[in-house]
Amino acid sequence: MGKPKVAFFKLSSCAGCQLTALNIEPILLDVLGVVDITYFVMAKRENHGGPYDIGFVEGAVTSPRELEELKKIREECSVVVAMGTCACFGGIPSIKNFCGMTQKEVEAKVYTELWDIKSMPVYGIDYYIDVDYYLRGCPIDKNEYLILIKSLLKGINPLFRFHSVCNECILKENVCLLIHKKKACMGSVTASGCGALCPSLGRECEGCRGPASDCNAESLAEVFMKDIGLSKADVARKFLKYAGNTPEFSKGVGHYEHY
Ligand code: SF4
Ligand code: SF4
Ligand code: SF4
Repeated sequence: MGKPKVAFFKLSSCAGCQLTALNIEPILLDVLGVVDITYFVMAKRENHGGPYDIGFVEGAVTSPRELEELKKIREECSVVVAMGTCACFGGIPSIKNFCGMTQKEVEAKVYTELWDIKSMPVYGIDYYIDVDYYLRGCPIDKNEYLILIKSLLKGINPLFRFHSVCNECILKENVCLLIHKKKACMGSVTASGCGALCPSLGRECEGCRGPASDCNAESLAEVFMKDIGLSKADVARKFLKYAGNTPEFSKGVGHYEHY
């Protein structure tokens, strides 16, 4: 049996997750030894059509053209992986869903020539197609990416636990930014897997990996307002930034409709 054929696709995104997938120098050659990267426009000059065994999809769907592309990807790939928070939940591009403007008004903010622009509300890819695996994060976590590849090669399900970032933060013996420094850290509602990267560097978690399995966004929103002094609009911005499309984070927004 030959090596599994792997493809990387890009929808609306910043390419940071594809870059992370490439930025594994110490073991890049090992990975290339076990998979055949058949399609990866960002990394290769020669790319080949499907079918593929594994398709990594970076980015959210923001236009009818991308939706057609995504449906074709689903047809061509045995396994589809949503790679990064844009693909999982809509991510940063989904902010436009909540800004209180119509699609046309949003388009006019970005482009001067509008005749050929057709955009639509932004969702993660599982809004449209079945997704087999998710790699969360903005960008993805390298270790989770490698765990997923190894698991797929072995034919087993990767074990990702989505308890809160606080769990990883406490294990690192960090001083809690929320309790001790009154910083609006979202670690308690956000899925772990990044090793509490931001709090370990003194920065509050911004929720880039989306909701934790035991997410209580309403309670944290109240803490942000009562204890930290954030306005309702500020709280809404925090919960809508990466995963506002998820029912869990939308609960943190309360009745504030847009910002
Ligand atoms: S998830 Fe973040 S890093 Fe990845 S493509 Fe989207 S914006 Fe870029
Ligand atoms: S700093 Fe943030 S992630 Fe760390 S324990 Fe406090 S709330 Fe949780
Ligand atoms: S600490 Fe929060 S914002 Fe930072 S990488 Fe982890 S999940 Fe993302």
